[in-house]
Amino acid sequence: MPRGTMGRLPIRAVLKSLQSLRGMVDLLPAQTPVWQRIEATAREHFRRAAIEEIRTPLLEVTELFARGIGEATDVVGKEMYTFEDRGARSCTLRPEGTASVVRAAIQHGLVAQGPQRLWYGGPMFRYERPQAGRQRQFHQIGLEFLGFADPRSDVEAIAIAWDLLMDLGVGGLSLELNTLGTLDDRVRYRAELVRWLEQHRERLDPDSQQRLATNPLRILDSKNPDTQALLAGAPTLAEALADTSRERFEAVCTALERLAIPYVRNPRLVRGLDYYGHTAFEITSSQLGAQATVCGGGRYDGLVEQLGGPPTPAVGWALGMERLVLLLSQGRQEGAQAPRMAPSPDVYVVNRGTHGAACALDLARRCRQRATAPLAVQLDLSGAGFDKQIKRARRSGARWALLLGDEEAAAGQVRLMALEGDGVSHPADRLLSQAEFLSLGPEELDGLAGTPAGGA
Ligand code: ATP
Ligand code: MG
Repeated sequence: MPRGTMGRLPIRAVLKSLQSLRGMVDLLPAQTPVWQRIEATAREHFRRAAIEEIRTPLLEVTELFARGIGEATDVVGKEMYTFEDRGARSCTLRPEGTASVVRAAIQHGLVAQGPQRLWYGGPMFRYERPQAGRQRQFHQIGLEFLGFADPRSDVEAIAIAWDLLMDLGVGGLSLELNTLGTLDDRVRYRAELVRWLEQHRERLDPDSQQRLATNPLRILDSKNPDTQALLAGAPTLAEALADTSRERFEAVCTALERLAIPYVRNPRLVRGLDYYGHTAFEITSSQLGAQATVCGGGRYDGLVEQLGGPPTPAVGWALGMERLVLLLSQGRQEGAQAPRMAPSPDVYVVNRGTHGAACALDLARRCRQRATAPLAVQLDLSGAGFDKQIKRARRSGARWALLLGDEEAAAGQVRLMALEGDGVSHPADRLLSQAEFLSLGPEELDGLAGTPAGGA
């Protein structure tokens, strides 16, 4: 740059501030408490059901999803974030969790060790049109039972999702249930459905016309109202089921009834992913508009083998965090229990002077490390006047302020001020040694709250 130009260029003004990518959403501090509450509740439910956590990479080889989800699905066909890495390998940001969990379970020999009860949580990536309840980076919590064939495992998986949502206080949910039968059932039905749909091809929407060749069962799932109206007359999968498939489904229904979990049969329900068979379910809410499904899942007996593992029956589900958060915030407006807010610190450390400030840094740390009752401490780093800092201490919601100036620091003392109470009382409530404050037990600390001035 030529000499002198620097001085004239308004460098700061030309720098444009950057935005997140479309469909990639920040969670700000005001929002994270709700997320933390959901995660803690889920963790607790999984613990009670002896389900272990598994964490897999966000990035996988593309072939995992092509094989595990199916080339003909929307997810693989249109929605994946796929790119070549620097070693010219095709990589994909995971669009869902099941394929990765199964890959990891095969790779590390978990499947060979016996049945696995696993859960996972975290971000997923799909290149979709962003709208309420639909993002490009979104979050799921999911459960996978690997090595379980009994219809009761379907019911236990469903019950865990249902109880979690009930415990979180989500109302107005509906459990929709269907069976997709065996692969044989579906092959037979598929031929029959295609034959029927071919006769009405001109009444299908363009998307469905295309699916006729690639993935005809997904036409049942079409959101186009004309196609839906046409389908009312189509043959159903239920009619094509073998007796054993029908009996299995009845066993699932009966067990749900015994648990008093309400459900509705929805013969149109097909999961978007190819590897599902037998039980398929969705938990939906009427309050979510077009993005009605909070949780979806079902049985995927063919997947482990499809990914190179031994034949392993399996069932699982995934729950959409963003949609769950939307439901919980709607509930709040209608007067349901408000989520916990971010916790306030116990102590706010007000400090001034070279000595006082240095000592405060140390005292704050030691308060947080107290053996008997560690305190949550917010340290004022502004160097502002005492009055300003005390105002901030009150706003922080802390129960106590600890005041440290050069004088207190030199004497190894600290001024303790109770912030609850009249709020206008003289700041220097009580002078005590730092060692004494650090050794106060929880009850003694409680006793200090709101103690009137004049203690020292
Ligand atoms: P949809 O029909 O709404 O696209 P899906 O069948 O693609 O859902 P699954 O792959 O079964 O969804 O994922 C399970 C859950 O994850 C969904 O029920 C939903 O709650 C959530 N989910 C899926 N895609 C998104 C997304 N793009 N944004 C936010 N949540 C999503
Ligand atoms: Mg989808």
